[in-house]
Amino acid sequence: MLKCRQIAEQASQYIDGELSLWGRMQYRTHLMMCHHCRLFVHNFKAGIAMLDRLHREKTPQDKVERICGHVRSIPKD
Ligand SMILES: [Zn+2]
Repeated sequence: MLKCRQIAEQASQYIDGELSLWGRMQYRTHLMMCHHCRLFVHNFKAGIAMLDRLHREKTPQDKVERICGHVRSIPKD
């Protein structure tokens, strides 16, 4: 069985779906039995969603395109 420390270490891989089938099964089994880790993963997901939203709000599309255009206009030698 996974340890709580491993749950914390693998949280981003779990959320991104990068764990193997077996890894995911072990991960879920731990979450079913461990309230602390369930809470941890829940908060971890909420944190990612918040960062994602902030990032999108603070970077309007026209600004992104201006930056991309600027990068493209840099001459390559
Ligand atoms: Zn745990």
